[in-house]
Amino acid sequence: MTIVRLPDEIVHKIAAGEVVVRPANVVKELIENSIDAGAKNISIIVEDGGFSSIVVTDDGCGISKSDFPKVCERFATSKIKAVSDLDSIETFGFRGEALASMSYVSRVEVLSKIESCEHAYKAKYKNGALSSPIQPCGGSQGTSITVSSLFYNAPLRKATLSKPTSEFRRISTIISAYSIEYSDVSFRLSKSAYSVSMSATSSSKEERIASLYGSYHSKHTHSFSISVPTHPSSSSSSSSSSSSMISISGIISLPPSLSKSTSIIFVNGRLVKFDSLHRSIVGVVSTVTQTKHGFFIYISLHLPAGTVDVNVHPTKKDVFIQCEGDVLESVSDELSKLLHGISMISSSSSS
Ligand code: ADP
Ligand code: MG
Repeated sequence: MTIVRLPDEIVHKIAAGEVVVRPANVVKELIENSIDAGAKNISIIVEDGGFSSIVVTDDGCGISKSDFPKVCERFATSKIKAVSDLDSIETFGFRGEALASMSYVSRVEVLSKIESCEHAYKAKYKNGALSSPIQPCGGSQGTSITVSSLFYNAPLRKATLSKPTSEFRRISTIISAYSIEYSDVSFRLSKSAYSVSMSATSSSKEERIASLYGSYHSKHTHSFSISVPTHPSSSSSSSSSSSSMISISGIISLPPSLSKSTSIIFVNGRLVKFDSLHRSIVGVVSTVTQTKHGFFIYISLHLPAGTVDVNVHPTKKDVFIQCEGDVLESVSDELSKLLHGISMISSSSSS
């Protein structure tokens, strides 16, 4: 057996398969780039569940002409510069991999305009590099990225994914979650340029929950917000300064008819999978209500910089949290108090 170094083409395609697992990952990466760019309006058009095309348009800061050649270059980013930056990442992006990966498994087109430039520019990309000249064109401030023919060169991936309707549902789930956390940003999701499937334009999180997850939530939502110090050993800082505080805010809804439980959890602005927190919420709700009551909960945690490691997986869905025990305990205590209060109010009003 001889060991050979894999050619770059194979290395990039393997890496791309990890970042761009399915159409919903493309949408998530594109809207995160838009939020990083300071966008206040984001439109997402998804055709054929994202397999034919995904177009994300924002009104963010835009990309300058001189940066166009690097947009799809792997490990090229405008967001971090030094190793130490990895410990205090405030942007979604930092790996410089998303657009590069997309360019290895789809056709990518970028159109962007920065404020200081009279016109916009556009270009096409393939396999990590420009595949067309950078051309001037008309366009308003911001960026529009089109990802088309997704997995054209990965037929097995395409064949094993679910149907376009289920992929669209996954995309819609992600956008709904982001539109609660980023309630100062308007989101519009469509299946074509002429129809709107989902729109989140109000500025209240409660209103967004009711319009996206069912109007029956509006009568049953309860908000909470607390700030607790981290246990001294869980944070590198031992003082109770704001840098060692955990801030927890959220909205829980317990409509009587709900049987399914949904947890939407953001950690430092990132949508994450936090199964242990979901399980502990299920435990609190069933203990207090003494039923298998379903619930909807949105929780936004802000943890001290340096206690969350987001550099675990290319999709950044998993994060490692140093003060996980403090978070579980604080959320359980707060929810338990809140739910006891609600059940006392409802029992006194029914008696
Ligand atoms: P990352 O977000 O990790 O930096 P990406 O591959 O997602 O990597 O994006 C590469 C670079 O392209 C970003 O660092 C940013 O400079 C630029 N970029 C991508 N999307 C946008 C956007 N919507 N608006 C402004 N700049 C963008
Ligand atoms: Mg990015």
